[in-house]
Amino acid sequence: MLRNLVRFLFLLILILITACNHQNNRKENTGEQANDSLNKPKTKIYSYRRDRFIVTQDTVASDDTFGKILTRFNLPYSDLYRLTEVVKDTFDVKKIKVGNPYVILQQKDSLDSLPRPKVFIYQQDLIHYTVIDFQDSIKVYYKSKDTTIRRKTAKVIINKSLYQDMAELNLSPKLAMELSKIYAWTVDFFHLNKGDSFKLIYDDVYINDTLYAGIGNIYASVFNYAGKDYYAFRYPVDSIKQHFDYFDEKGRTLRKQFLKAPIKFGRISSRYNPRRYIKYYGRVKPHLGTDFAAPIGTPIMATANGVVIKKGYTSGNGNYIKIKHNATYSTQYLHMSKFAKGIHVGSVVQQGQVIGYVGMTGHASGPHVCYRFWKNGKQVDALKEKMPPAKPIDKKLLPEYLEFIKKYKKELDTI
Ligand SMILES: [Zn+2]
Repeated sequence: MLRNLVRFLFLLILILITACNHQNNRKENTGEQANDSLNKPKTKIYSYRRDRFIVTQDTVASDDTFGKILTRFNLPYSDLYRLTEVVKDTFDVKKIKVGNPYVILQQKDSLDSLPRPKVFIYQQDLIHYTVIDFQDSIKVYYKSKDTTIRRKTAKVIINKSLYQDMAELNLSPKLAMELSKIYAWTVDFFHLNKGDSFKLIYDDVYINDTLYAGIGNIYASVFNYAGKDYYAFRYPVDSIKQHFDYFDEKGRTLRKQFLKAPIKFGRISSRYNPRRYIKYYGRVKPHLGTDFAAPIGTPIMATANGVVIKKGYTSGNGNYIKIKHNATYSTQYLHMSKFAKGIHVGSVVQQGQVIGYVGMTGHASGPHVCYRFWKNGKQVDALKEKMPPAKPIDKKLLPEYLEFIKKYKKELDTI
């Protein structure tokens, strides 16, 4: 008896659910001209059935905004406002970029109404896209296209220029960019010489097996720079294998720390202070460097490997040198009494190499070197700058690492 009642209730609920669904479907389908039975899996766009929508594919124009695009496709302003409010935490509508592709799926709410946008799909890059679906409730989700990865190897010998030589071999310029990051502290990419060469093992990424989408991981590489081999192997630096770094054939890091100071002996006489009051000027004048006081003639060292990009004299700086270390960091050394021999604009300097001598040229009230630290074109406090750690492979993990890189090294050596 009870069993029968349960069964009856279950059946009743099932019927109600089915009826509800049916009604929903009907509501969605109003205004559709296409025939359901014609639907084939291939007629989908971003997993939406093409036959159910008016599909428009376009790219973001220079004066386009999220709002402009959607209202152009007949979204009422009241709906746009609600939509923008709901998606604002998950999708930054201001971030849509000129030239990026988008898709609008429209539907008619009734036979004689205008087709209204129901789905907006924005392609961030070749692989990743955002779907804003407002058919019923508003849903935002991020998706990526199916990609296939193909392992590749390459060998490039510098003949004309890195980019030209790579282009001739049909290699992506992105590869050169990634490589310059791996070797940022070892190889000076602005001063490669004819005959320098590199070999690498990496992934190419394709969408749907055919469309090239760029490079994936670089697993291993060896750069023959000025006659010396610099190996780099990608290896996880955490136990969950989320972060990777590059190490050489002995497990040493390819990155370098900056020296803490440009002189061996001396003391900090004035710190970086954007609100410093200077008597000399009678007003607040930011001090964008760290002063190390030391006797005149004390050697000043480059705090990291790099290239001299400026050498000169100004009334404020006195004799000074500026060194570019990589795409991110540069350092500058002021008030020198004289420059070291053989240091010119374009000179390649090593960490610890003497580039000049302490003096008090320019605006200086005593002998010191004013050390300035540039990050992405802005002066920052060298003493507070958090440097990327330059730690080697942990001793305990070294045997495992050396075993891991064997196959890569062997492969590199045979390319
Ligand atoms: Zn200073």
